[in-house]
Amino acid sequence: MSLATTTTSRSARVQFLDRYGVVGHPVARSRLPLIHGLFARLAGQQLEYRLHHAPPGEFHARVQAFFAAGGCGLNVIAPHKVAATAIAHELTARASRAGAVNLLTRRGERLLGDNTDGAGLVADLTQNIGLDLTTQRVLILGAGAAARGIVGPLLQAQPAQLLVANRNPARARQLSASFADLGEVGACSLAELRPQPFDLVINATSAALVPGGLPVVPPGVVGPNTVCYDLSYGSGDTPFTCWASQQCCARAFTGWGMLVEQAADSFEAWRGVRPDTRPALQVVMSA
Ligand code: NDP
Repeated sequence: MSLATTTTSRSARVQFLDRYGVVGHPVARSRLPLIHGLFARLAGQQLEYRLHHAPPGEFHARVQAFFAAGGCGLNVIAPHKVAATAIAHELTARASRAGAVNLLTRRGERLLGDNTDGAGLVADLTQNIGLDLTTQRVLILGAGAAARGIVGPLLQAQPAQLLVANRNPARARQLSASFADLGEVGACSLAELRPQPFDLVINATSAALVPGGLPVVPPGVVGPNTVCYDLSYGSGDTPFTCWASQQCCARAFTGWGMLVEQAADSFEAWRGVRPDTRPALQVVMSA
């Protein structure tokens, strides 16, 4: 950890910790400060991690001010992930492919944009939940920034089938086309889904931003062997995991594990240490 120290008087020395944070709108309820605080304690490191509220019109100015004042790194959450691609001087291959950035890191005078959403989801599905994705027929609901982040890493896991269904089918087709060289991604509207069960159904819509909000899909896409995963999270079940349980799915998970795993990737990129994610997952799920 680097420390910059200034002398404010003969006796008082003020220490400035390396500064990180999360920028979003809304951002007040983000658990990332709790998660990064825990990672830092476990790693025996000291750092500052704060919330940065930025309505869309203020995103660029807030990010520039943060880094101009010496900030080291920012997590980026909705609705800024696409805008963050334009603020980074350089993008990792996965961020470029996704067209969405959830991690900005200072590299000297330049900003590197990365996307750890997909790696976080795949780590949660395979390591924490124990799924073998290679044999799975996978349905993604939604084609926004989060869906763009998860398609590449899911394709790398070589599922038997990957289909993206979105309310606006043109957006699903656009997503499918931009990953075509990595593998086959089907695209359709939610209304065009046939009532046949998938092995894994991932809700990557933001429908739950409205209380009780759910994407409307034929119940038949969930069967008794289907695992359902909601990228959204909250206290207890989400509307989607409630709905999935009502369809008698095999198991249903909320997105806490993905949140913690993608945060661990951020922490590793910033601090050079991969934290153990299990304690953080227990804390955020019970907080
Ligand atoms: P975007 O705004 O980029 O995309 C929203 C998507 O949801 C679009 O595909 C939109 O469809 C669809 N949608 C919105 N409302 C409805 C509805 N009522 N019915 C059907 N579809 C709907 O959001 P993000 O992709 O950034 O985020 C999506 C969700 O994923 C959020 O809840 C976010 O919190 C969560 N997330 C969780 C993470 C984690 O670590 N667990 C990480 C990243 C995201 P259309 O195109 O037709 O408008």
